[in-house]
Amino acid sequence: MDNYKYLLQDLTKLKGVGNKTATILKRKKINNLFDLLFRLPQSYTDRTQKLKVNELQVGKISTINVVVKKYSFPRIRNLPNKVICEDETGTIDCVFFNSYEGYIRKILPLNKEVTISGKINYFKKRYQITNPNYVSKESSLIEKIHNKYSLTEGISEKVYNKIINQILENLPNLSEWLNPVILNKFENISWRDSIIKLHDPKNIGNFKSNFYRRLVFDEILTSFLVFSEIRKSIKKIKKKNKKFTNKNILAIKKKIAFDLTNDQKKVLNEINYDLASQSKMFRILQGDVGSGKTIVALISALNVIESGYQVAFMAPTEILSNQHYLLAKKIFPKKVKIDLITSKTALKNKKKIQQKTENSNLDMFFGTHSLFQKNMNFSNLGYIIIDEQHKFGVKQRKALSDKGGINCDVLLMSATPIPRTLTMTIYGDMDLSIIREKPNIRKEVKTYSKIDTKINDVIKFVKKEMQSENQIFWVCPLIEESKKIDHQSAIKKYEFLNRIFPDEVAIIHGNIKSNEKEKVLKKFLEKKYKILVSTTIIEVGIDFPNANVIVIENANKFGLSQLHQLRGRVGRGEKQATCILMFKSNLSENAKIRINTLKQSNDGFYISEEDMKLRGFGDLLGFKQSGIKNFRLADPIHNQDLFILAEKEIKRIENEEKKLIKYKPLIKLYDQAEIINDLV
Ligand code: ADP
Ligand code: MG
Repeated sequence: MDNYKYLLQDLTKLKGVGNKTATILKRKKINNLFDLLFRLPQSYTDRTQKLKVNELQVGKISTINVVVKKYSFPRIRNLPNKVICEDETGTIDCVFFNSYEGYIRKILPLNKEVTISGKINYFKKRYQITNPNYVSKESSLIEKIHNKYSLTEGISEKVYNKIINQILENLPNLSEWLNPVILNKFENISWRDSIIKLHDPKNIGNFKSNFYRRLVFDEILTSFLVFSEIRKSIKKIKKKNKKFTNKNILAIKKKIAFDLTNDQKKVLNEINYDLASQSKMFRILQGDVGSGKTIVALISALNVIESGYQVAFMAPTEILSNQHYLLAKKIFPKKVKIDLITSKTALKNKKKIQQKTENSNLDMFFGTHSLFQKNMNFSNLGYIIIDEQHKFGVKQRKALSDKGGINCDVLLMSATPIPRTLTMTIYGDMDLSIIREKPNIRKEVKTYSKIDTKINDVIKFVKKEMQSENQIFWVCPLIEESKKIDHQSAIKKYEFLNRIFPDEVAIIHGNIKSNEKEKVLKKFLEKKYKILVSTTIIEVGIDFPNANVIVIENANKFGLSQLHQLRGRVGRGEKQATCILMFKSNLSENAKIRINTLKQSNDGFYISEEDMKLRGFGDLLGFKQSGIKNFRLADPIHNQDLFILAEKEIKRIENEEKKLIKYKPLIKLYDQAEIINDLV
């Protein structure tokens, strides 16, 4: 039953692997036998064809059967050792640099028949093989196809093949975990056979075959099983359900000038349903920039307060916290006690607020993530809302949910629309609410592209906008090779614009400290400047209702999702907003597609799907750093169908299978991060 454990052994358990080899492999994140199995052969060398000496071709890797005839061990430095061999058709020299006499005598004993494989040279009218790859008395050991693996600097092909073959020979036959219906889709190939095929040189690059897809499916299934377990463990927690009426919505409606969109209503219902249920909520609210997540969060918060609990609303920056706080102040009934802590809050006040939260004298607290995690204790916390956090990993989310306590519901909000398979991969532990439709008072941002020699047109346009009291974001080239150059180019642009528009331009870039940056942003928000030049992405989520133009230089340097995010900084007010994508001549095909996609669509979810198609999922905005699971084989673009199949299968497992013991090997092997230890 536990024969999978063989694969979790340390590398040094293998014959021929000492500490040195193990260290090299561990540096490549190969820690045990299982990891080794998922480094795939990249190509192979065919050593099956045995030739006679008179058939050899110079430059080809060949295998020959010869008899050792004579040694030459010159005692002069830099002259190689030589072994003269022959078959009935001719002679060939084996030349050794850096090999000792004793060793050579051992592998090539005089007058014995040996098999040698290596690249054929011709030197001074004689065939020779220099430092042969393989020498053996047993020809069957050589006359094979030998795989070539990447990532093996410091380990020879010979050693690596030996290691892999050793594992394959001892590969345990694990009892099947896939259900027959699923297995049938892969023509019933077992895990063991699949792995063996994975290392068969005939199959290199065979990503569509059953054995490969089965292994991909195993991997996705594991990931989803882990998510499912986390979800179940959270759902198991029985909380006191929140009781509330719709009174608050009516009260708030009077204070805001708009109706909720259908999608806002839909997600609010989903959230309210969870709040009012006896299971703990663990939900992600996805919605593009400007889709109106804040109001949804605030209404649901008010419900929780009405029900007698405290609420914490966390944002990544102080400006954002402040914005949320001010909005709540505006729309909440006067009797609701809310407060905000920032780094500027005086210590005395901070203490007071902290005491109030501890004594239930505060209904809702606004602050940054870090403040919450460090300083706050609540007497009666019932709801945590976290804005704009796609940087939390699974473990952090789970910890957060635990910190809130039994009665505390959790809502994460993300303004990064991502493709569906990616959502499954990243947020599979959470329930999902999506706002797709944007408030229709929002005019679509008009998007233009402009070659950068026409900067004067852009300046003219900007001038006109400034005259109508509008503000402008000016995003400077992103040059990946050097942050320093980024800053310089932004500074140059700042100086350039400042000459044209004296005292109306501000700048932020990566070298400016974050509190300094917040100061500049605040001044921009207060309309003390008309143009803000920046390199780094302007803080996600801040509402600058007066900024309605964004100029993006070298737009071809940004990815599609990133451009869409940048564009989302504008168009938050009622005026028509404009995005100008500037570029140098000679755009690549790919860059042309990106720019056209943006001109045609304002739908973040659509754009993210297109982005993933163009770039592959690993490069999508921000997700490289987000600690997202790195699959060994699975690919959310090419294996989309298997992600969807796995999603269905998980639902079936959740409904039909009480015990998960049969998945134990799968989870132990694939989920070595051990997010769930006590599964089975
Ligand atoms: P995000 O989803 O990016 O957090 P916000 O909640 O900041 O979006 O909302 C963006 C802007 O849209 C705000 O100024 C908000 O007042 C406004 N808004 C939200 N919902 C609606 C709606 N249903 N109709 C009109 N305007 C809305
Ligand atoms: Mg927001």
